[in-house]
Amino acid sequence: MQDRRKTRKVAIGDDRVGRLFIGGDSPILVQTMTAGYTYDIDACVAEIERYRLAGADVVRVAVPERKDTDALREIIKQVQIPIVADVHFHFQRALEAVEAGVHKIRLNPGNISDRDQVNQVIDACKERKIPIRIGVNEGSIIERKDKQKRMEELGKYFAGHKSGHLLALMIAKLEEYVEIFEARDFHDVVISAKSMDPALVIDVYTEIAARFDYPLHLGVTHAGPKSTGAIRSVAALSTLIANGIGDTLRISYASDHVDEVKDGLEILYCLGKRPRKGIELIACPTCGRIQVDLFTLVKEVEEKLSTQITLPLKVAVMGCIVNGPGEAEGADVAVFAGDRRGIIYVQGQRVANVPENEIMERLLKECLEFEAKVKRGEAKLGEKMVEIVPPDPIGELGSGKAKIMAGQVEQITVRAT
Ligand code: SF4
Repeated sequence: MQDRRKTRKVAIGDDRVGRLFIGGDSPILVQTMTAGYTYDIDACVAEIERYRLAGADVVRVAVPERKDTDALREIIKQVQIPIVADVHFHFQRALEAVEAGVHKIRLNPGNISDRDQVNQVIDACKERKIPIRIGVNEGSIIERKDKQKRMEELGKYFAGHKSGHLLALMIAKLEEYVEIFEARDFHDVVISAKSMDPALVIDVYTEIAARFDYPLHLGVTHAGPKSTGAIRSVAALSTLIANGIGDTLRISYASDHVDEVKDGLEILYCLGKRPRKGIELIACPTCGRIQVDLFTLVKEVEEKLSTQITLPLKVAVMGCIVNGPGEAEGADVAVFAGDRRGIIYVQGQRVANVPENEIMERLLKECLEFEAKVKRGEAKLGEKMVEIVPPDPIGELGSGKAKIMAGQVEQITVRAT
């Protein structure tokens, strides 16, 4: 894992919704975008609140029409999170969004035909200290005389790359756009260069990171449904973040955007870039040793615990006693299933051996009680763990059926870390 790349720091927000920073030493922020119509104020506010409660730091809304920017003023008064206005084609929408008190503008200069119009937006944002995210696409607003020459230079540089021409074009466009902003002494800039191709996303952001010191907004665009979009997004974003690149991100799914927020946060938790909120669930994939309906149990555990537990408890749900304890090492609460029963451990102490239909209820009770103890200062997360010490008692247990029934799983040795 490489150190985070040093960037400029851009402020977003206000006194009412709070101020956040993108870039520098600030945490990597998670964004999403509303899917409904912005002009439907109540629905838009409710949607933004769902994303905020799911953990989003910033929410973007589209403002294609005047009625959307009219609604924006009221929406901004009602929400508790910084809002970004996504502007395409109509520079007036950006000016109206600024007037409405928006906290950031997302603009693709290539989609606005007149340089003076872009300048008007830059000046309005500069006056109000509102940052602008610049995205790249195939469009262009300015014909630079040296553009072809620059493309040729970059093209040679990327000659061996499978998307070399596109990569060169994206870099050349960004250089061109950034120049417009810098010419007006505007530096509250965040850059994005999204693509549907995760490999290109990795390469283009790596090149941008080497060329600019502005914070970067990461994303794989139009990634598809969550089933495939998650893989595409994780492949690109995790690679970049592990390489120290990226200051804010948006996962894009053709499904409920709450999943975008949850999965964006999970990437950051997994890479140790944000302190985890809520449970960390470990579960076995099951195999021929399984003796309970583990998939249903895991689904229920995830649903119930993620809404009722606020501390980052590590919870393990294991299908049997053979490999379970080793794989559940470090869990605060663990259940090992077998022979239609579940044995529950809380920080290494066996607390219950219950029939399958009582596992969920008992596990929830133990998690809530343990969380309450932690909150009262009577226990610490991750303080004790299950550990197997030689001679391996689990090996002696074999499939464990008879011994589970006899309660002999207490042979698992437990010690404080
Ligand atoms: S914990 Fe048991 S049931 Fe689950 S995968 Fe491992 S051996 Fe199989």
